[in-house]
Order: sequence, then structure tokens, then C-alpha cells
Amino acid sequence: MLYNKNDGVCRSPEFICTMEDSMQYNSTRNKEYKVASAMAMKQGLSADGGLFVPELFPTLTKEIYEKLMNQTYIQRAATILGLFLEDFTVEELESYCETAYGNGKFGAGNPTPIHYTDDKTAYLELWHGPTCAFKDMALQMLPHLLTASVRKTGDERTVCILVATSGDTGKAALDGFADVDGTKVVVFYPKDGVSEIQKLQMVTQKGDNVFVSGVNGNFDDAQTGVKTIFTDESYREELNEKGIILSSANSMNWGRLVPQVVYYISAYCDLVKAGKIALGDIFNVCVPTGNFGNILAAYYAKKMGLPVGKLICASNCNNVLTDFINTGVYNRNREFHLTMSPSMDILISSNLERYLYDISGKDDAYISTIMKQLSEKGSYEVTDSMKETIKKDFFAGYASEEDTLAEIKKTFRENDYLMDTHTAVASYVLKKYREETEDQKICVIASTASPYKFNENVLNALEQNKPCEDEFERLTLLKEISGLEIPKQLWELQTAKRRFLTACEKTDMKETVTKFLS
Ligand SMILES: *Cc1c(COP(=O)(O)O)cnc(C)c1O
Repeated sequence: MLYNKNDGVCRSPEFICTMEDSMQYNSTRNKEYKVASAMAMKQGLSADGGLFVPELFPTLTKEIYEKLMNQTYIQRAATILGLFLEDFTVEELESYCETAYGNGKFGAGNPTPIHYTDDKTAYLELWHGPTCAFKDMALQMLPHLLTASVRKTGDERTVCILVATSGDTGKAALDGFADVDGTKVVVFYPKDGVSEIQKLQMVTQKGDNVFVSGVNGNFDDAQTGVKTIFTDESYREELNEKGIILSSANSMNWGRLVPQVVYYISAYCDLVKAGKIALGDIFNVCVPTGNFGNILAAYYAKKMGLPVGKLICASNCNNVLTDFINTGVYNRNREFHLTMSPSMDILISSNLERYLYDISGKDDAYISTIMKQLSEKGSYEVTDSMKETIKKDFFAGYASEEDTLAEIKKTFRENDYLMDTHTAVASYVLKKYREETEDQKICVIASTASPYKFNENVLNALEQNKPCEDEFERLTLLKEISGLEIPKQLWELQTAKRRFLTACEKTDMKETVTKFLS
């Protein structure tokens, strides 16, 4: 079942690709630089600053659909990853998918269930994993892909993942990498800059290979500190001598993006099986967007032949993408807002580069030029023909804080469905799209976090908040109002052992890493 780029034939499991004849990935800033998927994932970013993209996209043939239709989520994931990662064997991918999504990690049934509020509105719940947010879909898989990639490239070093987090990513990385052989993970969070529940999730993390530290500073301080460590050549050399290679778990890594393609294809199969749509019929997709990774995965699924109509890009009031899609001008020189959907508080959407590379006709020189403009001036404008393509592929809109609260309340009242603040942004923008365009096609909304994870804002939206002793009293309050089960991963934090109680100065982050590694 390995797809071969030369003849488009799916191979039997016995066919094990070598690195040379498997699908190649090239950098968006230099398409002559080509590597197999293992090398792309090991490197993360290309040395020229570009992002790795597949040279050719596999096609979802009738035979593949037939196969997927009868598979479980885990099997579908192995099938679809196999189309992209030709330098991995079927057995390898199957075992990673089983470890990542099986063993009750995402509950007992389908890891990505769909909730219909009516016949044309389908909330794809991507938050049933260990940290209650959608980043688990990628970060439970990445450690397996990354460690295997390091080994496949003939490298015996231990991979040390460094993360600066504003909340969601840190915990998802900790949980994904915990006790994975050949890895260590160190997470820094701004000491007073994450929610109580996010902090608890991190400081109680289990695993012998993990370390968590607060930083006396804000998120930018933590991020700057991590970047400084990454670019410190002599430190890297020092670690190299100890058999350690530094790596990051950020969403520019292909190994984080490719697992996200799976759930759009799987959701389509589920829509067909549920009789909501006939095989081949077009559906729309609506995604609450920050770094443009999740929605790009839907675009890639479309490139493979999944019948996606419009991609609806939903932002909060950090609406740089709304403006870009509507005008073709990307301009990050604007006020930064802290919102109640913090995982979308982003002004530079890194994965957009991959989409622009694609629609520019793979013009690597052009991409280098506009990305240079972005880093020097904070803005760029794309060509007229690209503007037209963008308008065809995407619709963009944004929700204010009031819109977000109102959407949570309205959907709970009218449809008895409770959602978190990020999902509410998408839900609101979908309604705007339907009003403006009268396109009433069935739409899959990516639901990216459990309402319990953002309980305070959700209770405010329902106008039912009251002073609570702690997070757990609020979880109970939300349960009483909604009737929805409290995720046990959050409830159990109450009694979990607090392991990591220290914070360091922003100037001492390197020493903190060194101490942990020795
Ligand atoms: C990260 C995140 C997003 C944004 O996803 P991108 O891939 O960065 O666009 C949306 N919602 C939640 C809950 C997230 O954690």
C-alpha cells in the first residue's frame, strides 16, 4: 500500500522503500533541496529557513476510498500516512498509530467523533486526547515519527525537545514525548502567564524523561530564551559530544502537519457512512485558525482529491489572516490582542508559507522574497493572480470577543451543544459565511478544545459564572449546568502529584537545561 511517485501504484507491504526512491520533500525557499520524509522531519526547518513540502501529492483513488471506508481511525491513519511517508514501512506506521491513538488514549470509541447540531453542521471533535485539545492529534504521533526519523538517518543521538509554551503546546508535547525511548523534553512556561489548569497539567506531568520549569517573565521572554539556546552553536556542539541533538516540536515540522490530514479524510468517510452525504459530494470545512497548520492540512486533503468546497478560515480579533485572504496584503504591524481564544493569538501564521508556495507555482525565489519582506517590514502583498486563487479556495471572517461569547450561549440554548471559545469562533464565522453566500452545503467545523479546558470563559458566556474556590469547583459547576462529563484527565489533576515546582530567571534557562540533561 505504499504509493510510488513514479507510477502511482500502491505497493504491497513487502515493498519497503529506500530513502532514495521514496517521495521527496523540498524546501519552500529552495526547491532544488530535496530530502526523504525522515530527513525532513529530523531537520524540522530547512537550513535556508524554508518549510518542507511534498514534491508530489498522492491521489485518493477509488480503491483507497473503498479501503478507508471500512477501516478504523487507527487503520485510516496508517493508510494515509503511508501515502506520504514512503521511507517508513507499513508495520512501522501501524504500530505508531496504535500507540498514538489506541490504548484508550482518545477514549473508547472513535478518537475523533462528530457531533451534528443539524443535518448540515458537523462538529469534528478533535479534543478527546490526553490534554483535551486538538494538538494531541499531532503531538501523540510526532515523537514516534521523529525518533524513527533520527534513527533512519543513521543518527544514534538522544533527541532533546525544547519548548516555550503559552499553554496548550507545552502540555501536548510533554504528554506525547513522556517515556518515549531516545527522547527528553524540557518545557518552559511564563510563570504567571498560563491558566491555572494549564499550569497544573504541566507541573503534574509524569515520565522520567520530562522537565518543566516556570520562567520569571512573559511568553516572549520564554520564547526568546529557547531561541537563544537553539542558535548557540557552541552549546549545540557541547550537547553533541554528550550524544544529544536539540529539536523542537513546533508546527512547522512535517511530522506535526501530516497526522492532521488524516482526520479530514476520516471525517468525510464518517459523513458518507452516516448517510449525511454521498461519496463524491462536496462539503465545506471551517477551521479556527492561528498558525494556519490545521486549515492547511484540510487544503492538502483537498489537493489529494478530497471533495472540499470552501475552506472557511476563522480568526479572533487578531484577524491578520482575514485581512490577508480578503485583500492579498499580509500585514503584521498591528495591535496584538490577548483574547479568550489564546491559542489563536498569533500575528505570524508560519504555515501560510506552504500554501503560498503551492499557489505561486512553486516559485521558491518569490517565496524567499516575500518572507524577507515579512521579517524586515512586517508585510508583503501577493500577485493579482494569487489573490484570485486565494479567494476561490478560502472564505475568511473573524469573531470579536462578544461574538464568541454570544455564539457559545446561543448554540447551547438552541442546540444543547456546549463548545469552547476557539470552536465558537469558527461556529460564528460559519454562520456569517452562510448568510453572506447562501452556500448551505454540509460543513465540518474543526472543534479544537474541550469546553472544560476554557471553563471560566465558557461559564461567563452562559452567564452562570460565580466565585469559585478553585478550578475543580468550576468544573463541577459547568457539569451541573451542561450535563457534559468532566474529562477525567482534567479531574484527576486535583490529586496528581505536583512534580515541578521551580521557576528560573530568563537568563538561567540554558543552565536549567544543562542541569536536567546531566
Ligand atoms: C493551536 C490551536 C488552534 C490553532 O491551530 P493552528 O493550526 O495554529 O491554526 C486552534 N484552537 C486550539 C484549541 C489550539 O490549541
